[in-house]
Amino acid sequence: MAKTQQFKTESQKLLHLMTHSIYTQKEIFLRELISNASDAIDKRHYLSLTDRKVPTDTYEIWLKPDEANKTLVISDNGIGFTEEELIENLGTIAQSGSKAFLEKIEQKDLDIIGQFGVGFYSSFMVAKEVIVETRSPYAETGYRWTSLGEDSYTIEEIERHEIGTTITLFLRDDDTENEENFSQYTQTYTLKNLVKKYSDYVRYPILMMVKKTEDKKEKFEQETLNQMIPIWKRAKSEIKPEDMNQFYQHQFNDYEEPLHVIHTDVEGLLTYTALLFIPKKPAYDFYSEHYEKGLQLYSKGVFIQNKNKDLIPDYFKFVKGLVDSADLSLNISRELLQHDRQLKKIASHIEKKIKSELENLLEKDRDKYIEFYEAYKNTLKYGLYEHFGVNKEKLQDLIMFKTSKRDEYITFKEYIDQKPEEQKAIYYASGKSKSSILSLPQMDVMKEKGYEVLLFTDEIDEFMIQILQSYQEVPFKSVQQGESDLVDDTKKEELKSKEKEHKDILKALKKALKDKVKDVKLSARLKTSAVCLVSGEGLSLEMEKILKTMPNQTDVKADRILEINPDHDLFKALNKIYDQDASKIDDYASILYHQALLIEGLPIEDPTEFSNQLVKLMIESSK
Ligand code: ADP
Repeated sequence: MAKTQQFKTESQKLLHLMTHSIYTQKEIFLRELISNASDAIDKRHYLSLTDRKVPTDTYEIWLKPDEANKTLVISDNGIGFTEEELIENLGTIAQSGSKAFLEKIEQKDLDIIGQFGVGFYSSFMVAKEVIVETRSPYAETGYRWTSLGEDSYTIEEIERHEIGTTITLFLRDDDTENEENFSQYTQTYTLKNLVKKYSDYVRYPILMMVKKTEDKKEKFEQETLNQMIPIWKRAKSEIKPEDMNQFYQHQFNDYEEPLHVIHTDVEGLLTYTALLFIPKKPAYDFYSEHYEKGLQLYSKGVFIQNKNKDLIPDYFKFVKGLVDSADLSLNISRELLQHDRQLKKIASHIEKKIKSELENLLEKDRDKYIEFYEAYKNTLKYGLYEHFGVNKEKLQDLIMFKTSKRDEYITFKEYIDQKPEEQKAIYYASGKSKSSILSLPQMDVMKEKGYEVLLFTDEIDEFMIQILQSYQEVPFKSVQQGESDLVDDTKKEELKSKEKEHKDILKALKKALKDKVKDVKLSARLKTSAVCLVSGEGLSLEMEKILKTMPNQTDVKADRILEINPDHDLFKALNKIYDQDASKIDDYASILYHQALLIEGLPIEDPTEFSNQLVKLMIESSK
């Protein structure tokens, strides 16, 4: 009994686009169907290694054009579909590539169809009806799926013994007015060319009966249309960059070319080929927990696993690609693979290779490195931070920052090579943007000294630096934290005697702010500003801000130290008021503190109190 079912909404959208497509490169449907067939064979082959229910076979993909009936059949002896799989896989779109495609297409960018793995539905660009006949080793019977590509499809049981899938396309009528020629897909000549163009590297034979004329007699002969040499097995010098880019886009479902390709052949104790790609942009789910890192794994050109996580460290998780090694046993199970020593060695090579390629880019193609860095800097910084910094040596030279003095990025190495001899630390400051950092009061002294300050504008930066601590024995130092180390001895003495001289007012200020700050001090770092807030040696104010946004972290608090500029007119005014009427100092202290909070970008703890005090002050000053 045939059952008719509705396509899921998203599928209907995609189908509608396919059937009404004015896209000119409709020929890509063949690439899509052949690549599905090849994937299905991969799956069957892999399962046959571990599951006795799945017999092996001589794997083949067949094209059978029929000129008279205007049909094209594509068949494979891959894993096939169970009834549930037909519903699940052909009735809905689960594929990330197709989803991303739908999103793009809604922006009316039709030219990109060819760049996506739009999959099975692309057959409706050339066919008015599609029939899928299939048998899975896990099903009791075969099934036929039929659809006109509109809103519904039909599934019925059929008798079928051979495992695999046969797809029949009833081609559309030619439309001369719009120069649409669908009957060409029944021509062996066209099909041969399309396989050459798009599917030459498919690892299973794509077969077709081709008419040959011999001694004036016509006869049909079986011909293999593809070379079956995977792209990574071809000589490097023979691979055109366009071919490599196309391979990447199709294999890894990206509509953009890769930013960088690493192709490495290793021979010796360990023999393998790796094709590694850095995508231009992080995958759409890169920052979600659903993102799965990993490389495809092959053994002598035969697919083993889609995403082997052990081949790539977390901090390079943006790398996509594959590894083909003759040293891996095909019969190995996934669990055993995890402990495979060869695999561990390959993983360690690959890690070093990626690192050295990135360093090379940094040195020789700075613009490209910056493009890379802007896309993935947080992943590198996080990699440096996690596991208590075990990987810091590996990653620290890949990190760059913009600085108070320039708009370009600079590495730690470049920073220390260019800093003045007498400068004893690598300075940094945290804030939302360059301009907010440059206007921090604490920057006064840095500007005066002419020291360069790294701009920390990403949340991860301060956490990372806590782990890094120093670079080539030069310590990192926040301009917003702890004692300023930029004061020479005579200045220190001067400050000490000033603190002595003003000890009463400092004591009064400290008392007024006893619940708010740990200390009130005269500042050595302020030049033009009146006050600033710095933190003690532990938690910084910037980290406090970040931690407060996290759940269950509401009571974290950095030690606050209020610094006052002893040479500023404000401090003189404060002294005058203190001498005239010491009781007024409490309000002034509170206003100063709140002002410092505002400058630091921290929330005012009690806005009403702050505002009342300001109003009071304004009224008094008018008297
Ligand atoms: P994609 O191939 O990008 O996943 P498709 O829409 O082309 O998307 O196919 C959807 C799913 O249907 C595939 O992921 C696969 O599980 C299944 N499929 C497609 N073609 C075949 C086939 N020839 N044999 C077995 N399964 C197939």
